[in-house]
Amino acid sequence: MKSNKNSFTALEQQDMKYHDYLDYWVCECGNFEKEDGFMACTETGDLISPFGAFYGRCERCGRVFHIGRRQIIGINPNPDRGRF
Ligand SMILES: [Zn+2]
Repeated sequence: MKSNKNSFTALEQQDMKYHDYLDYWVCECGNFEKEDGFMACTETGDLISPFGAFYGRCERCGRVFHIGRRQIIGINPNPDRGRF
């Protein structure tokens, strides 16, 4: 039986870092767009179409962040990837 248990864990909200030299946000784990990058996701980290998405997920560590506020809100190391 397929488990639909979501592995999301909320974290204390934290502003994302900004790359020292390049015009990119950087995750706590050091990942940014030119390395492993980020994927659009739901507020619990499941991957979705990037169009109109409010949240993003780090492809390296699974942290989930609010795109508009640029704040890390949680982590989901094992999301439902859907077709993404
Ligand atoms: Zn990360």
